[in-house]
Amino acid sequence: MTESVFLRCIDPGCHATLDVDSVVHGCPLCGGLVDVAYDWDRLPTPGAITFFAERWGGRGRPLDLSGVWRFRELLPFAREEELVTIGEGQTLLQTPDVRSLDLDLMPGRLGFQYEGLNPSGSFKDNGMAAAFTMARRLGRRLVACASTGNTSASMAMYASLTRLPDGRPMRGIVFVGSGKIALGKLSQALDYGAQTLQVDGDFDACMRRIREASDRLGLYLMNSVNPFRLEGQKTIMYRVLEGMSWEAPDWIVVPGGNLGNTSAFGKAFMELQMLGLVSHIPRLAVVNAAGADTLCALFNDHGLRWNGGEWDRECVTAFYGKMDGAGVKASTIATAIEIARPVNLAKALRSLDVMNGVVCRVTDDAILEEKARIGRTGFGCEPASAASLAGLRQLLSKGVIDRGSRVVCILTGHALKDPDATVMYHMGREEGGAAAPPRRFSNSPVRVADDPDAICRAIGQD
Ligand SMILES: *Cc1c(COP(=O)(O)O)cnc(C)c1O
Repeated sequence: MTESVFLRCIDPGCHATLDVDSVVHGCPLCGGLVDVAYDWDRLPTPGAITFFAERWGGRGRPLDLSGVWRFRELLPFAREEELVTIGEGQTLLQTPDVRSLDLDLMPGRLGFQYEGLNPSGSFKDNGMAAAFTMARRLGRRLVACASTGNTSASMAMYASLTRLPDGRPMRGIVFVGSGKIALGKLSQALDYGAQTLQVDGDFDACMRRIREASDRLGLYLMNSVNPFRLEGQKTIMYRVLEGMSWEAPDWIVVPGGNLGNTSAFGKAFMELQMLGLVSHIPRLAVVNAAGADTLCALFNDHGLRWNGGEWDRECVTAFYGKMDGAGVKASTIATAIEIARPVNLAKALRSLDVMNGVVCRVTDDAILEEKARIGRTGFGCEPASAASLAGLRQLLSKGVIDRGSRVVCILTGHALKDPDATVMYHMGREEGGAAAPPRRFSNSPVRVADDPDAICRAIGQD
């Protein structure tokens, strides 16, 4: 099997290939990003995508229960006995009521892919199952990530649950920056026993430091520059298809941080189309927070495109130079996407090309309002996830997405990840105790005297 799987630089001008077991954080020749690549002609692939549905019936078998490994023929980089799973990806495509969301879409046309239902509460588990498979196969004991929170929560969980083939436990090391980190996520990393290093610098600085430390100490890097993470995250799209009876929607809407999902989704559809397993590729809408909008600025304001792999590197270097010169740092309530230098930028451009994508930016106020609306439909999520609905509303109002489209928003993380953001919205308390302006869907506790009449009056008549 191994000869049919390799790593390949995504730059068509380079296309260097490497052995699948090489541990690299980029192309050794040109420094670009690498993909996990397959020689599909030599691999057994199913004749029709509905093949995977039959595995639903085999839920007693861990690999068929996993929402990642149920699709193992589509990420065939390891042998079955090597696969790491803890039952990730048990997530479903939900159909919220577009009227209660006050959304100008035809009824039944909206889906929420609810990735908050993963074991650690975010979609990151999809990628970790794949990346831990590779780490274990390579015998790497020390695993590390720089994180805005969910990557560390997920990595810490898998590190505590995975043993090397020789029985030794793995050890997780988390780098968190001085930026905001939601307490739900930090608490997970601590509880699962990962060593947590608080680096005096933002996420982007952490990312630089961790690459240096992994070179020096041989840490296995679990950030989404690890191409195996993205193989696992491709399966989010397979489950969307499964939820729609294998008929692709018109649009996928996803928040964009380090752009791992954006990259994985495009690769998923590129491969499905190449294998003849889907007839149509959905369009992609990537949503940045206004305070962390590098992709949006480069794509919309500077016209940056994949351009067959000849994307304008100088434009990006100049953009970052200007950003650093002006001392601009990412800043948003949606901490999971508070990233100014997305590591998967090049792969994301490729995805936008494959999926005929668009990019937009939304304000923190819009994110919080949509989060409250999503909460009211019963699908609680964290702020970054709600950026998808805020983006959808904007794209509907601009006519980019029309009301007859079938749209799937990816709800990336669970509401309990960031209770502070929720409580702050509903109760109007900002950090430091200062009062905030009232919010549209604010739902504060009502103070009431310890008295039956007062309680009945407060509840009122229905
Ligand atoms: C990591 C994360 C994101 C950002 O995803 P990328 O793949 O890095 O763009 C968005 N939402 C949540 C909840 C996350 O944990």
